[in-house]
Amino acid sequence: MIDCHTHIVRWMHQQEEELTEDKLLKRADELGIDRFVVLPIGASPESQTFPFSTEDALASFKRHPDRIIPFCNVDPRQGNNSPDTDFSWILDEYRQKGCKGLGELTANMLFDDPKCVNLFCQCGKAGFPVLFHLFDKVGVSYGLVDDIRLPRMEKVLKEAPDTVFIGHAMAFWSEVSADVNEETRGGYPAGKIEKEGRIQELLRKYPNLYGDLSAGSGFNAITRDPEYGRRFLEEFQDKLLFGTDLCHVVQDVPIVDYFRNGLKEGKISQAAFDKITRLNIERLLK
Ligand SMILES: [Zn+2]
Repeated sequence: MIDCHTHIVRWMHQQEEELTEDKLLKRADELGIDRFVVLPIGASPESQTFPFSTEDALASFKRHPDRIIPFCNVDPRQGNNSPDTDFSWILDEYRQKGCKGLGELTANMLFDDPKCVNLFCQCGKAGFPVLFHLFDKVGVSYGLVDDIRLPRMEKVLKEAPDTVFIGHAMAFWSEVSADVNEETRGGYPAGKIEKEGRIQELLRKYPNLYGDLSAGSGFNAITRDPEYGRRFLEEFQDKLLFGTDLCHVVQDVPIVDYFRNGLKEGKISQAAFDKITRLNIERLLK
């Protein structure tokens, strides 16, 4: 299995044991995860962690090239705080050093802010998928921001057709059901999915959108209505990526057993399992 979303991290907002490179490797071994993307965080000040930079991720990759897949991270405001900043040479340098994508983008800015669109377009040119955390409001926490029903994201999917976007977090996955509202969109809405939401519509319509199933948000989206969740995995088997969002030393990641047992019990097809847990990300990251 390849995990599209992990971190090496020391938290700022709580006294908590640091998830070091060694501890992350040990955890991946326990879970049977062969390779994993390490996403730098802290490039944006809204992130609740001490910075773990692209250079740190590359150093980890050098020590464990058979296990670790490094992404780079750049804040859209870095450089000149302008929609014209040239990131291309930085992205090229990171690609040459082994980075495979950009993320986790946690800047608390509007998704269609011209500074974000500038960075997205340059990631497309560099061949970097962009993995982002989606939040429901400006202020309070971290993550790119969209309104309910994701109009800004749709606008950007059209404006940057050559950039692959990998969506993550509550404001993204709560849109799997049409009954999402302002109260529920920032959390983990429960209940049956009677009518499909914007996620299905956007995944069908835009070849450059993918879904990152990691964390409570991704897992909730596929398990809140178990029967629908399995249909969702089959229909969108080419557009979904298995992930854990490992970021704590002690952390339950039920998605691993969900996939393994689902395959064993015949609830997830072999084709969907192979694509979601390995082949899709191999294709995206070349
Ligand atoms: Zn994360």
